[in-house]
Amino acid sequence: MAKKITSLNKEWHLAHPMPKNPTVQQRIDWHLEHNKHCRCHPGIPEKLKEEMKKLKIKIPRIPN
Ligand SMILES: [Zn+2]
Repeated sequence: MAKKITSLNKEWHLAHPMPKNPTVQQRIDWHLEHNKHCRCHPGIPEKLKEEMKKLKIKIPRIPN
């Protein structure tokens, strides 16, 4: 049985903490980078997607 990849990239997280009081753009950037390096929670949170829609920011495609 194939093992599902849900591994946490601890080193990446330590090197890339979420900024304090991040802007929507900072959060988007963080999640995009996060998806490239870590699989602990793939994709972009629904709440952030809603914020992006409000601000008319294009939601990038992220393979889950
Ligand atoms: Zn992660």
